[in-house]
Amino acid sequence: MFKTIGPKFGRAIHYDFHTPPGIDNLLGNFDAERFADQLHNAHVEYVNVAARCNMGFSYYNTKVGKKYPGLGDRDPLKEMIDACHKRNIGVTAYINIGLDHEIAADNPGWLKVSRDGRIYGNDKFDNFFRVMCYNSEYREHFMEEIREICQYDIEGLFCDCFALRECFCPRCMEDMKRRGVNINDNNAVIAYQNKVRLEFVDDIKKAMGEKNGKIKLYVNGISWTVGAQTHAEIECLSSDPNWGYDYFDSMAAYTRPMFEDRVYMSGRFQNSWGDFGGLKPLASMQNDLYDAMMNSFGISYGDHMHPVDGFEDEVANRIGKVMEERIPYEPYIENSDNIVEVGVLIHSNDYYRALPYFSKGAARMLKELKIQYNVYDENGPFEDVKLLIVGESVRFDEKLEKRLSEYVKNGGKIIFTGPSVDHGKNSGLLDYIELIGNDPRDNAYYTVEGSSLRWAMYNPSRIIKNVSGKEVAKYINNVSNLIWDGRQAYFYRPQGGETEYSAAVLGENTACVCFDILKAYASNFLVEHRDLMKTLIDALLPEKLIESPDMPKTATAALTKNENATVFHVKSTYPEHKMTRGILEEHVYMKSVEVSLKGEYNEVYILPELTKVESKVENGRTVFETGNILGYRAFLLK
Ligand SMILES: [Zn+2]
Repeated sequence: MFKTIGPKFGRAIHYDFHTPPGIDNLLGNFDAERFADQLHNAHVEYVNVAARCNMGFSYYNTKVGKKYPGLGDRDPLKEMIDACHKRNIGVTAYINIGLDHEIAADNPGWLKVSRDGRIYGNDKFDNFFRVMCYNSEYREHFMEEIREICQYDIEGLFCDCFALRECFCPRCMEDMKRRGVNINDNNAVIAYQNKVRLEFVDDIKKAMGEKNGKIKLYVNGISWTVGAQTHAEIECLSSDPNWGYDYFDSMAAYTRPMFEDRVYMSGRFQNSWGDFGGLKPLASMQNDLYDAMMNSFGISYGDHMHPVDGFEDEVANRIGKVMEERIPYEPYIENSDNIVEVGVLIHSNDYYRALPYFSKGAARMLKELKIQYNVYDENGPFEDVKLLIVGESVRFDEKLEKRLSEYVKNGGKIIFTGPSVDHGKNSGLLDYIELIGNDPRDNAYYTVEGSSLRWAMYNPSRIIKNVSGKEVAKYINNVSNLIWDGRQAYFYRPQGGETEYSAAVLGENTACVCFDILKAYASNFLVEHRDLMKTLIDALLPEKLIESPDMPKTATAALTKNENATVFHVKSTYPEHKMTRGILEEHVYMKSVEVSLKGEYNEVYILPELTKVESKVENGRTVFETGNILGYRAFLLK
């Protein structure tokens, strides 16, 4: 686990400050003392401000970079650091690695070259139409910028847009030849560029000099697994469909066991980055705060500072309102961790951050079932949980097979889904089924006991036959695959008859589902898929941390714990899907429901007022009514 450097993230703002040319009174109405007052009044403890933006302009006294024209002797970075430090606000300096459009325009030879020999993409309004080559002279130029910035009294360094892209410039070509990289193999080229990226990070750490290891370092875009960053900073503008509302939870569940210091970088924008005139409703910003608190993360709101006027008062007020709401909860949630019972097992990815699709389906499903989970890769401490869910991406080797066998021997349970059934079978953990092989059908169906409806699998994967387990779902044939027979295309492919095969089988310590049920769920949200998984989970994990059958699927529940307190959180608010965007404008009431929590707690209080709630302890569980909840409620369990 990566340890915290400096104070842990609690309440922060991340400022973008990318300024187009031609603003002749840059920061003309900006006063650093007033700015720091605004931050202080908005209860901000930590701020990220620009040293050099992605347009390529510097906002500090630089010898190598290009200071924004008209700034003269002004050093806004120093002004902000000094004013913030007076008010005990930590400062991170922002610099963009992948983009520096001024330097790029001056030095086109420092740019990445595409396979077809171009340095510019087609769309000049896509910020990434030209990106810097990390092997070019840009590297030394950038390191000099880092050396300059690290002369300032900063608490952190945020290096943005460290994209992983191929490059066929003469330097990269020569280097690839030297290292024996096959340039016709795209995977080899990307693997090479990832190595270059990691070497670049090593150079950053060297250029940081004495500050390396003493201040926070965040390299945005690089994988969590490679040791490049000091903390988890999950960028997710929830109302922007590029992220949406399901991104943060699952990423939080993955990074939580890896990093001690964590922050959810949401945003104040209604649209996306650079949305100067868009401000999310208060309820929407609160939603992100609640998500952060429920996942044991600090909160940071992304903003774009106005180039002339600085921090706009109404934005400051709205952010301040949300920050203020967090303060009374802090003794109960600071340094907290989530209490979890289930793990979603994925394979580590040293190149990219995106989680495999099946794990997003799993995360969403578990959230709806109020089952507490983390996402682990093969290096994670998955022995901490009682049940593992395994899907498509996990690559099994001898070490992992052995670890999983030990895990089961020690009482752990596993559900294998889709292609991972192969590995369950190879590891000797699915001896109660026969694995017939790949499913040649492009659609198939299944039935469960008590219903004659033949449900769609959407993603058939393996054919399995029950030998000595308990069949939970039967495999139903399709009538046809999607084919063209020369006369007709078989677009409509209804259910066929029963087979001798099974769709889901339960053993003593494990279970398996023959199709990619979690991937299918993430695409279609057929609730019967969730029901089928629930049947298997209930059999393997009969006692859950949270039981509340009447709590709506749209509500979220979590348990967190720090050294002083155990907290049960309920979030009743959720976005409305308006066309392509999830919009949150006002909170909705959740009617009071009964909750039963594992553990004997003598007293239950509503936070932060500490209003006592009537509760009873029975059979090792604590039972109480939540009361009607508007948006969010946290309960202290004593
Ligand atoms: Zn290159």
